[in-house]
Amino acid sequence: MRKILIVGAGQSGLQLALGLQSRGYEVTLMSNRTADEIRSGRVMSTQCMFDTALQHERDLGLDFWESQAPRIEGLGVSVAGPDSGRVIDWVGKLDGYAQSVDQRVKMAGWMETFAQRGGQLVIHGAAVGDLDYFSRSYDLVLVAAGKGELVSMFGRDAARSPYSEPQRALAVAYVHGLGPRPEHPDFDAVRCNIVPGVGELFVMPTLTTGGRADILFWEGVPGGPLDAFQGVKDPAEHLSLTLELMEKFTPWEYARATKVELTDAGGTLAGRYAPTVRNPIGRLPGGGLVLGVADVVVANDPITGQGSNSASKCAAAYLAAIVERGEQPFDEEWMQGAFDRYWQTAQHVTKWTNAMLAPPPEHVLNLLGAAGQLQPIADRFANGFNDPSDFENFFFDPEKTNAYLASVAGG
Ligand SMILES: Cc1cc2nc3c(=O)[nH]c(=O)nc-3n(C[C@H](O)[C@H](O)[C@H](O)COP(=O)(O)OP(=O)(O)OC[C@H]3O[C@@H](n4cnc5c(N)ncnc54)[C@H](O)[C@@H]3O)c2cc1C
Repeated sequence: MRKILIVGAGQSGLQLALGLQSRGYEVTLMSNRTADEIRSGRVMSTQCMFDTALQHERDLGLDFWESQAPRIEGLGVSVAGPDSGRVIDWVGKLDGYAQSVDQRVKMAGWMETFAQRGGQLVIHGAAVGDLDYFSRSYDLVLVAAGKGELVSMFGRDAARSPYSEPQRALAVAYVHGLGPRPEHPDFDAVRCNIVPGVGELFVMPTLTTGGRADILFWEGVPGGPLDAFQGVKDPAEHLSLTLELMEKFTPWEYARATKVELTDAGGTLAGRYAPTVRNPIGRLPGGGLVLGVADVVVANDPITGQGSNSASKCAAAYLAAIVERGEQPFDEEWMQGAFDRYWQTAQHVTKWTNAMLAPPPEHVLNLLGAAGQLQPIADRFANGFNDPSDFENFFFDPEKTNAYLASVAGG
């Protein structure tokens, strides 16, 4: 059977490794951390995944936490006004629910499953030199190492990467004790609170190592008042800063958060990165080729909560491409084709996410405002998080937005 090496045990690497393993491929998975180190380490994401991406996991029988994780049935948007109130406030209903399973839980669990099923798990932080050596004994080497140092093997695609600097400073806190949302206490939703010119606060339920919890996630415009977490090392200080900023900029969310406490010492994360699309094929010093997966090749800002979704979609696209290839060589042309297949979905995510990082033009403000008056608009916007290609029909072009708004208002 064909031998495949996957470097990186995150959403894409593990999903692909388990998928290939179940089809009889001889898979080696290289991770720079053990399952226990991941489980007891720091949170890595907010990892809200929508129905299409979750379905890829279900298709492989990997939805181990589906019955325990909160069902996120809606997606809400609030826009802060000048006087501590909200000028926009609505929630759209998702056709299929979303879920967030702490990557510490999921990746540790999937890694153990991979090993229990006979997979070769190597704990080693791979360097380019290692890949050069290993590439000779595998039919295919996939680099699924996220935003780590190995991305340097893949050249930046400037035409597809409009930003060269980080567009948001990120600060995440996992908490217990958040009160129910008064607007709709009967169902869970992810809420995007937009503070114009300043940033966004995302609030969502999750399943973490200690059970159900909620995530408070600030995305701050660099240099602005939310860009305040650099250098904050103490998790308690991180949480109190999170709450202080909520009291100031999103008091309606702060009102539910007065009794929260951190889930655990690893429950905070802060950082930033520039959204980047890369060339999918890396060339090793010895001449071998490797194919980049998910964040390695397309890393978008988390403002639209798409990276794990995209990682799942990338793993599914590559799995299909590998299986269809049969016994033929995984050459450069095949690698480019596998990436192009993934880019069919990823291009929409990238275009929409990069648009959301910029100040909203008037037609988008009209769209967000109209969603508060007309429920079908809120619902369609919410479901765009599951299938961002739909934004092409009503989001980017003012004429299309206006035609859509007129059709809903008329209907
Ligand atoms: C703050 C924040 C919030 C987010 N929220 C969301 C969200 O709500 N929804 C969503 O869909 N996405 C979200 N994302 C994005 C999402 O987490 C990532 O896009 C996704 O995890 C990418 O998956 P991946 O498999 O490409 O890489 P990763 O999940 O990063 O996995 C890469 C793995 O490779 C390992 N590794 C790195 N270098 C090496 C090496 N040299 N050798 C061996 N192993 C190595 C790493 O330790 C890691 O385990 C968020 C990201 C951040 C930062």
